[in-house]
Amino acid sequence: DGEVFVRGLKDLIRTIPDYPKPGIMFRDVTTLLGDAKGLKTAVAAMAEPFEGERVDAVAGIEARGFILGGAIADRLGCGFIPIRKKGKLPWKTIGQEYTLEYGVDVIEIHEDALAPGQRVLIVDDLIATGGTADAAVKLLRRSKGEIVGATFIIDLPELGGLELVKSHGIPCHALVAFD
Ligand code: AMP
Repeated sequence: DGEVFVRGLKDLIRTIPDYPKPGIMFRDVTTLLGDAKGLKTAVAAMAEPFEGERVDAVAGIEARGFILGGAIADRLGCGFIPIRKKGKLPWKTIGQEYTLEYGVDVIEIHEDALAPGQRVLIVDDLIATGGTADAAVKLLRRSKGEIVGATFIIDLPELGGLELVKSHGIPCHALVAFD
């Protein structure tokens, strides 16, 4: 049963202590993505809260948001828009800065990726501080998109990212949480 297996998804996520630096518990979803039932269940459960709504496009965040986002877009019958790290997109872009633990980073979207009023669902594998997802929200709003929601496999509730994005009036869902 799907509901029961969503709980089993947690066991398919590999934890790597001190990667990429000391003190970080890296939640590695490659083990889940490599499992046929795990992938199917995660994609279905991430899409499920948005099945009854009009969604014109999924915006996936580089890089693991591409894998999940493409599958979710197919499932919802809509298009896919890549949100990429700076300098990767070939056409004219708009960019959004966000702060990391040390310094700043930039994500970009093609300036013509969205038509005004298009309804977009944000997808990534994991939300931590919410800095990346929050930058994606700003980028999509500047692109005149309407944000339907944001969906993740993993939430790290202690870092407050899901609450941050929710505070902008955006419905947010995650399948599993790690302390
Ligand atoms: P944040 O902007 O702090 O919400 O970080 C979210 C982004 O960083 C996502 O694209 C995640 O894939 C990645 N990330 C942050 N923390 C972790 C972690 N503990 N394990 C795996 N990925 C992470």
